Amino acid sequence: MDFGEFREFGHASIEFIINYLSSIRERNVLSNVLPYDVINQLPRQIPEQPEHWRQILEDLENIILPGLTHWQSPYFNAFYPSSTSAGSIIGELLIAGIGVLGFSWICSPACTELEVVVMDWLAKFLNLPEHFLHENEGPGGGVIQGSASEAVLVAVLAAREQAVRRLRLSHPELSESEIRGKLIAYSSDQSNSCIEKAGVLAAMPIKLLPAGADLVLRGDALKQAIEQDVAAGLIPVICIASLGTTGTCAYDDIESLASICEKNQVWLHVDAAYAGGAFALEECSELRRGLDRVDSLNFNLHKFMLVNFDCAAMWLRDANKVIDSFNVDRIYLKHKHEGQTQIPDFRHWQIPLGRRFRALKVWITFRTLGAEGLRAHIRKHITLAKQFEDLVKADERFELIAPRALGLVCFRAKGDNEITSQLLQRLMERKKIYMVKAEHCGQLFLRFAVCGMDPKPSDIDFAWTEIQTQLTSVCAEQQVNARKAGELSELTHHLSGLHVTNETLQR
Ligand code: PLP
Repeated sequence: MDFGEFREFGHASIEFIINYLSSIRERNVLSNVLPYDVINQLPRQIPEQPEHWRQILEDLENIILPGLTHWQSPYFNAFYPSSTSAGSIIGELLIAGIGVLGFSWICSPACTELEVVVMDWLAKFLNLPEHFLHENEGPGGGVIQGSASEAVLVAVLAAREQAVRRLRLSHPELSESEIRGKLIAYSSDQSNSCIEKAGVLAAMPIKLLPAGADLVLRGDALKQAIEQDVAAGLIPVICIASLGTTGTCAYDDIESLASICEKNQVWLHVDAAYAGGAFALEECSELRRGLDRVDSLNFNLHKFMLVNFDCAAMWLRDANKVIDSFNVDRIYLKHKHEGQTQIPDFRHWQIPLGRRFRALKVWITFRTLGAEGLRAHIRKHITLAKQFEDLVKADERFELIAPRALGLVCFRAKGDNEITSQLLQRLMERKKIYMVKAEHCGQLFLRFAVCGMDPKPSDIDFAWTEIQTQLTSVCAEQQVNARKAGELSELTHHLSGLHVTNETLQR
């Protein structure tokens, strides 16, 4: 493809994206396809001859788009948002266009240095403690990982290696494998699945401690677990707390957890994958309590901050603990400025060697929206969730299962779980809006998350009308079924009476 054709292809693709995003409300959020529908429309081999880009865009429209769930639709109310923005989309395009990798400073100095700058911008925007800033004298700093899962895994692996080194010094009578076999980590039973997975990948069991009835993990539960485990000869390594759990966006009590971790030399990591964006708002300053005492934390820009997936910020109070744990060098990776400046070689802060120039899309997004625009976006999600919460409260057929938290409302139809389950089934069949279910104390509930690039009050009304109408229809169907069941039992009763009479007559 020559540059002339490349230009035409590029312009047509931008048009395609703009048409898709600007008409997204016209599509059902869930697709109609069945398993193999997409596979069956595609050839099983690479085309032998190059094909024209127009044909490829046509196939994208006719084969791929009908098989998509539309994550940027405001009617996508499942999970948490995975938003994007014009600046971020262009940023992603430019990353691919420039095509650099930045695992060490020399590989592309601006790639590393821009990341240092945007991570400090972000830390200041979120009002994080100063020791997380690169510009601070200390060993702290921020890095962009691909996902919250990777950030948690990095924290778990680094905490594990630091604990092994410490124990080898303090207990020379123990072999390394004996130490590794005794390590144990903690989190709440409300934490995201990625935390349990990090334990599996790090070959270190993670105990999921029961959060209280309010779904919050506190220091007393951690203290009890640590005391039991230490008495049984185990070695506590790390506690992963959540600020904004996936189920209900509950906030663990960081202050009380920090007190227990500090006493027991346990690393404290905070997963604020979704809620971290709210640290930027003065009205949410309570959420930041205790962050000055944590060792590391992660926050997904690809959730609340209009940067497209993948982009997960991670901050370390002492990055040397990660660097020491992960530093595996080769002569071809060395460069003359290595170790002479405070500028990091980010390959030591992450799992892969290669790394994308994600800082570019973050930089462009922040500059095109400004801090004011970012704060306005988060506040808009909160306001829209309040609108939805008021609608739930005003209809006596529904109840809230937990207090609304940021852009998430957890609610259910009153009565047994069957009604909520049938309601969700109908909504999924109709494909107009998309929510997922969760469970707490045996009660099934629905999670309504405000999502999309530009959700509006009318989108909330649309979703609520759909939910109300479908509940009315589920209840009507239940009444018909109950009446039919009543009639059937009456008939059976009547027939069994006839049977007895018949038998009696025969005798
Ligand atoms: N932590 C929380 C609280 C989440 O809600 C999620 C996903 O929604 C994750 C972690 C996992 O995020 P990622 O897909 O970036 O690994």
